[in-house]
Amino acid sequence: MVAESSADARLLTKVAEIYKWVDAQICRNSDLAGVCNACGRCCDFGVFDHRLFVTTPELLYLAANLGAEKVKPMPAARCPYNTSGKCSIYEYRFAGCRIFCCKGTPDFQNALSESALRKFKNLCEQFRISYHYIDLPTALNNSFAGKKKGRIKKKKSKNRGFREKF
Ligand code: SF4
Ligand code: SF4
Repeated sequence: MVAESSADARLLTKVAEIYKWVDAQICRNSDLAGVCNACGRCCDFGVFDHRLFVTTPELLYLAANLGAEKVKPMPAARCPYNTSGKCSIYEYRFAGCRIFCCKGTPDFQNALSESALRKFKNLCEQFRISYHYIDLPTALNNSFAGKKKGRIKKKKSKNRGFREKF
């Protein structure tokens, strides 16, 4: 893991804890969460007709773990980390990727998304970094790679959950 300072390292640990918490909620409520067979169809947002929203701490976490130079742009509707139908960054995938399941209950997913978003917002306040909530293509195509914290181009969104239908 790449960390520039102890504050960065603490932030990354906190993001990992939030992901662990999200995974535990899903595990505990598998009847509501749905069972994903990892077919990868929903990672093609054009075909699946929806969008994935991500937050600043999650992007920092991805960049730190992959190495900022490996953060890919997203020139097409399919997530660039979907390789041959599989997630190539499974361990570091975003909260929306963890929460969304085509077989799950939307109310459960929305509530869990809201709770996770609150945790990411609190993290930004705690570490004094800008909170952004942006769709994945915007985040990746704004060349997040190599940029400093809080310098992701801001885009306001009224969408509440991580995954939204168009
Ligand atoms: S990060 Fe992985 S799970 Fe999430 S959209 Fe991309 S390929 Fe799919
Ligand atoms: S949520 Fe559904 S569409 Fe997406 S990978 Fe899982 S089974 Fe496939």
